[in-house]
Amino acid sequence: MHARTIQRIIPALAVSEGAGVAVRRSLGTPALRNLDPFLLLDHFGSDDPDEYIAGFPEHPHRGFITLTYLLDGHMEHRDNMGNRGDLKAGGAQWMKAASGVIHSEMPGQSEGRMRGFQLWINLPASEKLSAPAYQEFAAEAIPEVVEDGMRAHILAGEFARRRGVIDDPNTKITFLDIALAPGARFEYLLPPGHNAFLYVFEGDTLVDDGTPLPLHTLAVLSPGGILGLKAGNGGARFILVAGKPLHEPIAQYGPFVMNTREEIEQALADYRAGRLVAPL
Ligand code: MN
Repeated sequence: MHARTIQRIIPALAVSEGAGVAVRRSLGTPALRNLDPFLLLDHFGSDDPDEYIAGFPEHPHRGFITLTYLLDGHMEHRDNMGNRGDLKAGGAQWMKAASGVIHSEMPGQSEGRMRGFQLWINLPASEKLSAPAYQEFAAEAIPEVVEDGMRAHILAGEFARRRGVIDDPNTKITFLDIALAPGARFEYLLPPGHNAFLYVFEGDTLVDDGTPLPLHTLAVLSPGGILGLKAGNGGARFILVAGKPLHEPIAQYGPFVMNTREEIEQALADYRAGRLVAPL
């Protein structure tokens, strides 16, 4: 099996999301609309409250899963199912919006650093109108592996014989947060047949095929086996994400992701009529 190499490099785009939160979007842009089964990757990170304080007031989702991983700060979540989330540094939130969720994601802090990721994972047609679900994992619940020159947090998938806390039965996703010391090497066998990418959010790395990956770039990986890379002189930290493609048509309109245009029209009509979510 050939090594996993770099197929494409996507620099993140500065975008204003929610009520005015500064995010870096690398997946879900004109340069890379999606990478089946992934629909969007936003990286938020700022020490300036003006860039995050407005948060993400009440808004809907239908047809997919949101996975939020908070690196620094405090985020409060409320949704129509009655969930009250309290996401703190190192924690993760998995929300299966499916048939419909209306929620808010607001900062639980007025100063200091807020940093993290939100990844959108598509659902297959058979699950798009299924019942919504919500799970939250504190930092202590997420397996950590520390080896010479490396620290891994395993949100989903398997690493060093440890299993992550999140298990998506449809896409079998892998989601690792890897920190490397200066010059440290990293090798990992991603599930064959899964689409995969990595996103560098601290330092920089040099992939074994010779491709440099600077800060705030997303690299789409080729099919194949082992990914090998080496951290730059300042070390590196990145997320490594993979998932089984769904191979289904995608119709997207903002926070609604369905298979057909008609289903999008239905989602909009349901939302306007107050039928997107089930009554409590
Ligand atoms: Mn949301």
